[in-house]
Amino acid sequence: MTERLCLVHYHEIGLKGKNRSTFENQLVTNLHRALAGFDVSNIARISGYIVVETADRLASEELAATIRRVPGVARVSLAYKCGLDEGEYCAAAVRALGEAGDFASFKVHARRSSTTYERHSLEMNRLVGSVLCEAFPDKKVDVHTPDVTVVVHVVQGSTFVYAASAPGVGGLPVGTAGKVVTLLSSGFDSPVATWMVGRRGAICVPVHFSGRPMTADTSEWLCQDIVDALAPSGVVGRLYVVPFGERQREISLAVPQSLRIIMYRRVMLQVSERIARLEGAKALVTGESLGQVASQTLENIAAVNEAVTMPVLRPLIGSDKQEIIARAHQIGTYDISCQTAPDCCTLFMPRRPETHARMEQVLEAWESFDHEAMVQGLVDAVEWRDFPQCPSYHAPKGPLWDHHRELAAADSVQR
Ligand code: ATP
Ligand code: MG
Repeated sequence: MTERLCLVHYHEIGLKGKNRSTFENQLVTNLHRALAGFDVSNIARISGYIVVETADRLASEELAATIRRVPGVARVSLAYKCGLDEGEYCAAAVRALGEAGDFASFKVHARRSSTTYERHSLEMNRLVGSVLCEAFPDKKVDVHTPDVTVVVHVVQGSTFVYAASAPGVGGLPVGTAGKVVTLLSSGFDSPVATWMVGRRGAICVPVHFSGRPMTADTSEWLCQDIVDALAPSGVVGRLYVVPFGERQREISLAVPQSLRIIMYRRVMLQVSERIARLEGAKALVTGESLGQVASQTLENIAAVNEAVTMPVLRPLIGSDKQEIIARAHQIGTYDISCQTAPDCCTLFMPRRPETHARMEQVLEAWESFDHEAMVQGLVDAVEWRDFPQCPSYHAPKGPLWDHHRELAAADSVQR
């Protein structure tokens, strides 16, 4: 029986010159981890593809769909693998076209790579084309804009034949662009922002600020669900949770009501920056989008940003809500984000938040409470959960982390 396997195509990493093999190796590693739940027998690089084979030699659409979610994958084709026998690859072409669904026209695209096979591609096009015309007499050949293209690719001693091919998420393999700390709420935006930088190859370490103990821990569970939903893409290595409720109460008592949110955000960014340094991360990421809510004006972004020196990436800054929602559907976080839960953002909210903060007032309010001790106390109280789907994530080491580990072992996040 002819084997069925997945051919993984990758455009962008093919362009990276001498880094190419690093990227390919990383993609192979990431695919191994992403496909741990399948009985995969071989993942290998071959002539511009990565080939994924299963033990039963019958790769499924489910396997292809899982591969399509892995960053760095431009396209996945479910292909038949044959030898060089023309009867065999023509029969595979008939099967492949038969599975292509609804179509009116087709063409054959024969290719050869690193092979001494005696037939040339033009000859193969004609041969396979005539067999397909006989098998599908009501379909027409259209070499310019066909509905379906049947690819017949001879590589060394094998022939790969496919018609079914669908786009993957694109981007770069996670682990090729360093590490970032992302500020994750259970809303729509920050999960999408996290996924977007992950798709560009960054290892993501989300930090969630919960209102605990002043609120329930529902938002923490929702954030765990969000990271579980992102897990197949392998972008998240670890989720940190910072119980922020008590400190928010302190801030709310110390600063003018209208500046509370800006103070909360400055503390959140500083705690995240501290965690980023311990993690060896090079940037912070938020889900802000310009003007989307009152707190996301340029003045307020500047007033919050001033608290840190590390770059703050805002991948959604120019996105409309509809685009963000569409992406949330695609990555599987939409339904989770629809569930509302009180988190630190809903706690001690002022009636009239400042929308155009003036820096000198911000700095005055900032000096009116012991923010340094507060930030350190919050970093010391951080809890976390690890996610094994990101093979490139390496946890920080050292005495501080040993201390944290003991705290975390006794804590509820590691349930
Ligand atoms: P989101 O949909 O991501 O919750 P939002 O539209 O509610 O964003 P804001 O509440 O102004 O907007 O939050 C802006 C950004 O601040 C978020 O995208 C996120 O990166 C960060 N952030 C907000 N709340 C939290 C939280 N509880 N924990 C961690 N980060 C947060
Ligand atoms: Mg929110």
